[in-house]
This record gives sequence, C-alpha cells and structure tokens, in this order.
Amino acid sequence: MDVLTLTIDGKKIRCETGKTILEAALDAGIYIPNLCYHPLLEPYGACRMCIVEVEGMRGLPTACTTRATQGMVVRTDSPQIHQVRHLTAELLISDHFADCLVCSSNQRCELQRVTAHLGIDRTRLKRMVRQARIDDSNPFFVRDPSKCILCSRCVRMCQEVRGVGAIDMAFRGYATTVSAAGNVPIAESVCESCGACVDACPTGALIARSEALPPTSEVVTTCPYCGCGCTIVLGIRRGELVRVKGDAINPVSRGLLCVKGRFGFDFLKSRDRLTAPLIKRNGEFQKATWDEALRLVARRFAEIKKAHGPDSLGGLSSAKCTNEENYLFQKFVRTVFGTNNVDHCARLCHASTIAGLARAFGSGAMTNSINEIEYADVILVIGSNTTEAHPNIALRIKAAVMKHGAKLIVADPRRIHLVRFAEIHLRQKPGTDVALINAMMNVIIAEKLLDEEFIRDRTEGFEEARPVIEQYTPEVAEKITGVPAQDIRRAARLYATADRGSIIYSMGITQHTTGTDNVLALANLAMITGNIGRESTGVNPLRGQNNVQGACDMGALPNLVPGYRSVTDDAVRAKLEKAWNVALPADVGLTVIEMMHAAEESKLKGLYIMGENPALSDPNLNRTRQALEHVEFLVVQDIFLTETAQYAHVVLPTATFAEKDGTYANTERRVQRVRKALDPPGEARQDWEIICDIATRMGYPMRYADPGAIMDEIATVTPIYAGISYHRLERDGIQWPCPDPSHPGTSYLHKDKFTRGKGKFHPTPYREAAELPDDAYPYILTTGRLLEHFHTGTLTRRSEGLERIRPSSTIEINPEDAAAEGISDGDMVYVKSRRGEVLVKAVVTDRSPQGTMFMPFHFKEAAANILTNDALDPIAKIPEFKVCAVQIRKT
Ligand code: SF4
Repeated sequence: MDVLTLTIDGKKIRCETGKTILEAALDAGIYIPNLCYHPLLEPYGACRMCIVEVEGMRGLPTACTTRATQGMVVRTDSPQIHQVRHLTAELLISDHFADCLVCSSNQRCELQRVTAHLGIDRTRLKRMVRQARIDDSNPFFVRDPSKCILCSRCVRMCQEVRGVGAIDMAFRGYATTVSAAGNVPIAESVCESCGACVDACPTGALIARSEALPPTSEVVTTCPYCGCGCTIVLGIRRGELVRVKGDAINPVSRGLLCVKGRFGFDFLKSRDRLTAPLIKRNGEFQKATWDEALRLVARRFAEIKKAHGPDSLGGLSSAKCTNEENYLFQKFVRTVFGTNNVDHCARLCHASTIAGLARAFGSGAMTNSINEIEYADVILVIGSNTTEAHPNIALRIKAAVMKHGAKLIVADPRRIHLVRFAEIHLRQKPGTDVALINAMMNVIIAEKLLDEEFIRDRTEGFEEARPVIEQYTPEVAEKITGVPAQDIRRAARLYATADRGSIIYSMGITQHTTGTDNVLALANLAMITGNIGRESTGVNPLRGQNNVQGACDMGALPNLVPGYRSVTDDAVRAKLEKAWNVALPADVGLTVIEMMHAAEESKLKGLYIMGENPALSDPNLNRTRQALEHVEFLVVQDIFLTETAQYAHVVLPTATFAEKDGTYANTERRVQRVRKALDPPGEARQDWEIICDIATRMGYPMRYADPGAIMDEIATVTPIYAGISYHRLERDGIQWPCPDPSHPGTSYLHKDKFTRGKGKFHPTPYREAAELPDDAYPYILTTGRLLEHFHTGTLTRRSEGLERIRPSSTIEINPEDAAAEGISDGDMVYVKSRRGEVLVKAVVTDRSPQGTMFMPFHFKEAAANILTNDALDPIAKIPEFKVCAVQIRKT
C-alpha cells in the first residue's frame, strides 16, 4: 500500500495513494461539509458542498472528485469558500420541506448537519417547496420527493452498487426528480426492496416505515438467512427490534443487505412462536412443563435404544443453528444415542461439494474469499442464481464487471438476472453440466491453453482424466447440452486465458445424481488452467443457509466428525473418545434421506430433529411425510410448529438467532459471532441448554457455562478451529483453517500445496439424469429460490412485507410450451410428476428455456418437493432436486 502526505488546514495527513481529498480529510477526522458523497459510490461532485482551495490549483475544486497528491496543501475553509458554500446550501434548502421536528430523519439528517455547520438560519429563507406525490407503494419504505435534494445517492446506489437501476433522475430543470422508469410507483418497478437507497439518502426523502422511533441500544450480530453471512446491527427499543441496518465495516457486507436481511424479521414477534413444550396426547398437542417433556424424551429414547439398539435412533441437526449447537447435537447423537445417524440439510444442498472437493483438493469448502471475487478478471458462474440466492455475493460479481471490467460467463438454463452482465450465456439443459465442463476442457487441451507447469508440479491423475475429456468435443457436447459449440469454445478460451479465473457455483451443480461428478469436473477445469491456489481464483461453492458451512465443520454428518475427519479413522476416534470420555461408533451412519427410508421400513424408530423441516424440504414429500408418520417417537425442537413439528410426539420451543449467543461460519469459512439482543418468548429455551439437559437425563452429563465454553471445547477437538475463541471473533471473524491462537486465519486455500498434497484429477464421463422427459411426462422441472423467501418459508413468510411482494408460488413456462399446452399467463395449472401433483399459477416467460419449467420450493400450498425426485447421487447421497419429469395441464 503506497502512502502519501498532504497538508489539510495546516495539519500533515498521511493517506493511501488513490484517495480523494475528502476521503483523506474524513479519515483524519477533519469534517468537510458534503452531501452527494458516499464511500461506496464513485465521486460525483454534484452538491458542491465540499469545495476547497488547493495551492497551485485554480478555482474551488470539489474535494470528493480531486485525488490527494504528495505534498498537496489544502484549505477547507476561507471567506470565499464559506460564501460560495453558504449560497449553495441556501439554494438547496430553499425548496426543502422544513418539518425537521416531525421528520424521522431528525438528528441523523446530513442536510441538517451541513446547515448547522454553516450557521444558516433556515427560518429567514424564502421557500418554494415543491408539491410532490409521496410514493408509499413499497411495503418497507416511503419516498417523499419534497425532502429530496437531488444528490443522486439513491440512484447511484441502485445503479452502481446494486446493478439494479430501478430508479433514475427524471425530467429537467425545476421538475427534476428521482423516479422509477415510466414514472410508475416504485413497487411496479424492478426494485428489489434492499433498502440501500434508504440508507444512502442523506435527508428524510427515503424513510423505512419500521424506523419511526430510534433504538435505545444496538447489538451487532450475523444475518440468519443465506450463507453470505452479512453482519447486521439490531436496533432495540423496549425489548423489541425496531431497526436493522448493515455494518459498514464488515468485510462481507460493507453495510449492504438484501431485502430479507434488512426487513425480513417480523417472525421474531410472530404470535405463532412456540412458547411452551408440547406433548401430543390422543392426536392433540397439549402444553407441558419442561420437566414433563424432557423426562418423556429421555425415557422414550432410552427405551428405544435398549430395545432396538443405538442405530434405531437418529438425529437431524440444523444449518440454521449455531456452531456450538451443531457441535453439541452431533456429540449428543454419537455419545448418548451411540450412533453416527446424524445429518442435516447440507445433504440436500452441498453434500456433493464436500465429497467432490475433498477428493480433488482435500478440503470441501469455498477455496477463496468473497471480497476476492471483485478482483477476478474472468468469472464463471454455473448453476447459481446468485442475485436471488446469495444477493451480497452477486454484488461482488457485478462490481467485478461494472467497476473492474471483468468478463462474466453465466452457465444456467434460465435467463437469470446475472445474464444482463454476462459476456457469454451458456444455456445448458438441466443435468448436462458434466458434458459442458468436459467440452470446455476439451477446447483448452486442443488449443493448448492448459497450464502444463501447474498440472505437472501441483497435480496428479491428469493422464487418466484426459481420454475422457477428449471424448467431449464441443460438437458432441452441443448434442447433449444444447449449447452451440462455438459458445463452448468462446467460454473455454475466455476462462483459460484469464490471469485470475474464478468459478462460482451453487445448487444448480450439486443437486443432481451426478452432483459429485459435476463438482469434480469443475475442480478439473480449475486445475487444468492453474486457476486455484491464488487470490481471486478457485472453485467457490456458495453454501445455502446461514450456517450450513458451520454445521458441516462441526461434524453434523454421518461419515465425518468435527473438522472433516472420518468416523472410520481409528486414531481420530480414539482422540475424541478420550476427550468425550465414551466409546464411539465406528460405522458410517445414515444420511437424511436414508433415515427417512429406514423410518419407512421401521428400522429407525426414534428421531430427534433440531430446526429442520424435512416435511417441506425433502424430495418426494409424500414419501417423506409417510416416513415421518411412521417414526415411533419423534421429537422436534423449533421456534414454530412447522410442517415437520406437526408429526412430532414432543415439540420443544427454542430461541431464534436474535435471542442467543454463538457463532456461524459463512460460505467463505468465516466464523462470526451471533449475539443475543432479545429474550426468547414465554418458556422457550436455548437449543444448547435443551441438548445438555436431555443428555444429562440420559446418563451422559453435559454442562457448559455458556456458548463461549462450548467453542473452547470445539477448538480443542477440531484442528481447523484450534485457534478460534470468542475474544478473537469480536470484530471481523476468522476464516478457518486457523490452527493456533496466533494464526490470522486463511483467506484462500491450497496456496503452495493442496490440503491433500497434490490436486487430483478425476475422470468424469457424462451420465444422464435419473429421470428424463418422455411422452407421459414431457417437460423437465427444475426448482430453486426466490430473493424474498428463504428455505421452507417458515421465517420469511411471516413477514408482512415479503408476503406482499411474493405471496404465492408460480411456475415459469416458456411461451412455446405454454402455447402447446393452451396455457396463458396467470392461468392456474396442475403440475404432475410420478410422485405427486400440485396446483400453481403459470407465469409465461422466456426466462425458462423451451422444455424446462421452474418452480420455487418455499411454498407449502404448492410444494415443489411433492414433485421432485429422491434418486440419489451414489457418492454424496444428495437427491436430484434439479431435474425431474413433469406433465402440465390447465385447470
Ligand atoms: Fe442476509 Fe444473505 Fe441478504 Fe446478507 S445477502 S442480508 S446474509 S440474506
């Protein structure tokens, strides 16, 4: 980092090269009035509040657009500056509605600060306040143009940073205003309701509805939704959440949130929250005391274990719970139940990532960091609708393209939002990714674009993989994937010639019966071009839920104990047996789906589910629901009476993320703090306390002072977490591996050596999906997420605003398919697969390609997983959510 020195108001300042005078001054604590400046936006120079005098420079340049240079001498105030600034500010406020005392922005309004700084008497000004229509169409915020000073911060935030462009400056002269395209209400625009415009507004022109009263205290914690892991600041007043904002200094979010993380927290005070334990008697739930409920749980689990053995029991842990809770849960299943039948929803989203990347590289996690994405020069996004599923990571991809000129390749059957930013869109048929990736490598080999030195020095197995790759010429792949051969060539050349090529993928790659092969093929592609082990490169799986990474790290998996070590490894088990003071089971346990199948066959008789909802999230739901009905004794621990909890014999009420302490690990392996801001309702308790209580009642005492003490134990038995403790996580979190307390954490993996030593190529011949369209079921159905909802909708569907934007499910149908079936936009249609049928509204759009239809999986009224296939990847045992055959008919 180059540093220069300049003088501002007689004070010597050191600042990084490239900073503007305004940034240097603000960093040094020198206030220069400003209104249109924002640290995340390009310099604009419109409000002219930050004018300064610079020795040797003519006129009064704006400090926000003038770079600081070595030896520069700057004055931020003088009679001339004051006079011009004063006049400009008076003009600005002459048409600004002066209702400060009743304005929600009072005391945090930047215009107020500027006028106070300049000593302007607002009452003596002649006013000409514009009559403007208030836009209150958005459920989360209101726009009042009479308070707008046309600084354009909201517009630039929406365009430059979010890449959405929902609003712009419209009209000319005195009529100039901020408006959605076509001057329609904002709710009718492409606005994503992220609230970034609200946060950027320096006045009260954009106000969040929920923030009428300021909080009296703030708690910094981590968003409970997606795996991006944005830090959020919860504003509390009288024991209630009154505001959520981003944390500007958090390296993940930089203060930016998506609509869920900013506004999606009505569920905290929902009247549906569970407040007391429930025991089902004669088919009805009845309230019980904790002692009654836990005594019953401990007794029934013990009875089943005694009568049928440890493997007749199992547990589903939760990617929504903290590391500490997941650690205790898997420890409970292994030590108290005495089985490895423990799994969680990673099985349904990224089991193939863990299996594939561990085989190829030795570590099944995102290789690089979120902030590095912005500096890649070519990004291949495959099977990831990033803007909807991982909104904050999508901002980094857009920034790479819009700010730094990166080239983007999007490989996705649907025309997702990111395609707008892409150089090349590869529209492969669902389930043909291996053929596509092999063909890209085929081009790279044929055109000698491979990194021979990297392959020779850092990898093994290339010669075994090569003959398979050579079978998939672009022409062969075109027949399989439907992607034109010349597009495959262009994409291969672009990626292979990148200095820093980054691969980003998600469940479009993993949720297949070929999921592990898909991941292995991507690992091959990165290794063949040497795009791994350096900054801004790598193979980067985006993990779905807030703590799915952490739940895996903690060993809530049937084959791995904490730190990704095999349950079959005698040495590993011996160490844990010593630490946990109990003999551990040595056989690999059952996965989520296998547990359901075992329940169906009455082999699994007791099941403990913490914060998971398989009755809506598993494939082939009718079968899953029958299996749950079959479980002899089912305990569900959750915050709501979910679809799964309704099958339970005992329901245990727990705390939400805002009511607990702990940690989550986000998708880039960053372990971050979760902090308690509120008390849980009624008698709801902490998950970790409940687990400890049941374990102790079953004869295995578990006692911890608090979650920090659990983390201390985690560090002693989990080598990748060995250097992590709460006091080290206070600010930005730490990315594992962190092997000792002095280690800073690891931003990218496999630097000089892969975790397994050499990176390993695997031959990946193409295999078809388990179920393909035929005459009876002629279309492919693929499923995924929407921006506004999360997982089974348990949390987000209790948000009034989110429900207003996305109240129900739809199925996307290509216009050609719709015409062939006589379906019009908005028609209700029956969608049927070999496993069931749902009724849903049709959206006719070319976003989905001909022959492929898309449904989100959040909605219980039209549960997409009634249709999906539970065929499994043979290695990772992940189900094929992304491809099944369906028929469709109009009601
Ligand atoms: Fe939360 Fe993900 Fe949105 Fe960030 S991007 S605010 S982590 S849901």
